[in-house]
Amino acid sequence: MLVTSYMRLMSKNKRDVRQIAYKKIYLVDKEDYSLPFEGYDIHHKDRDKDNKAVDNLDIVTRDEHKQIHNLGLRGKKELCEYLHREQKSLISREEFVKLKWI
Ligand SMILES: [Zn+2]
Repeated sequence: MLVTSYMRLMSKNKRDVRQIAYKKIYLVDKEDYSLPFEGYDIHHKDRDKDNKAVDNLDIVTRDEHKQIHNLGLRGKKELCEYLHREQKSLISREEFVKLKWI
């Protein structure tokens, strides 16, 4: 019931995009997603909401989605690379400080 009324609120285009992302990405790589599909946003890598090509779509959490837009990244892959890089430099910086204190 909840899902039905939620779906009705969305525009047809957004509904189509979610259907494509659900069938072509979520169901295919189900083990990559810990939340139910309703918990995710769909991000358009080229920022064109009409481009429904599967490789233009990313299934992201609200937080990931916010970060992708705030950082001006293309999609989830770039976000993962960014976080990986940042974490690395943060750890080495901490270790550097620690070393200076010893
Ligand atoms: Zn987006």
